Amino acid sequence: MTTTESTTVSQALPAAVEVHDVHKWYGTHRVLDGVDLTVRPGEVTVILGPSGSGKSTLLRVINHLEKPEIGYVSLNGELIGVRRHGKRSEMGVPPAEGWGRLKELSERAILAQRSRIGFVFQNFNLFPHLTVLDNVAAAPVATGLLRKPEAQELARSLLSRVGLGDKTTAYPRQLSGGQQQRVAIARALALRPGVILFDEPTSALDPELVGEVLAVIKDLATSGTTLVIVTHEIAFAREVADRIVFLDEGRIVEQGPPSEVLDNPQHERTREFLSKVL
Ligand code: ADP
Ligand code: MG
Repeated sequence: MTTTESTTVSQALPAAVEVHDVHKWYGTHRVLDGVDLTVRPGEVTVILGPSGSGKSTLLRVINHLEKPEIGYVSLNGELIGVRRHGKRSEMGVPPAEGWGRLKELSERAILAQRSRIGFVFQNFNLFPHLTVLDNVAAAPVATGLLRKPEAQELARSLLSRVGLGDKTTAYPRQLSGGQQQRVAIARALALRPGVILFDEPTSALDPELVGEVLAVIKDLATSGTTLVIVTHEIAFAREVADRIVFLDEGRIVEQGPPSEVLDNPQHERTREFLSKVL
């Protein structure tokens, strides 16, 4: 879906995800260096960047699996995370207007917010001891969203949607990597998330299995689901992205529609990266 074709990206609603001036350090290693990112409801954002540029860390901060030292993330206008004035000056980052300490969220609030974010990992991360059906049905039951019969009915329909309606009784080890990843996508959908984050969803797959997973993600993209996708599949990114974000050394170097970032990159680092992956 390109920006010109898109009718589903809403400018009126609060941002699905807003990352505001996020800084993340591991020890003395600065991994995210002031990242700002706004994802509108229905928008498909693809994050590109070299290995080690902070892409996974950015997704983990959005999902609250990592806490930024500075900055915050909000989801549908609801704050996640903290901004710390003290840390900011300790780290030599100039203070900004209106900054101060905010109360940290309770673990319970964090879990509630995380349950509204789908996360699809490179290595599927299915429960090996559960059937495909139960892998998809487990979370809505565990979070109290649905009772077991309803959750299983939903799981059946989601598995049909990803082309696995005939695999409900199989166990993950009996499936190909592409099929396992499609189960993982159905599982992410089962919580009816406001946004789904994908971290290199096809990079662990044999080449002949990549297409079937990209087709499922493309189906979500065209049906108006809000997606943030880290991938090295440039042709796919061009096809589905409303916006491409190029991350390098923890900073967003440039962002824009595929026609700008892929076809007419403004920065040397983006050109260099694209020359290696295209
Ligand atoms: P990408 O996904 O773009 O390859 P990552 O976000 O995984 O990059 O990592 C960015 C940098 O942070 C890398 O240099 C990586 O080694 C480092 N890093 C990631 N996670 C940790 C961690 N838990 N502890 C220490 N360093 C980490
Ligand atoms: Mg990564």
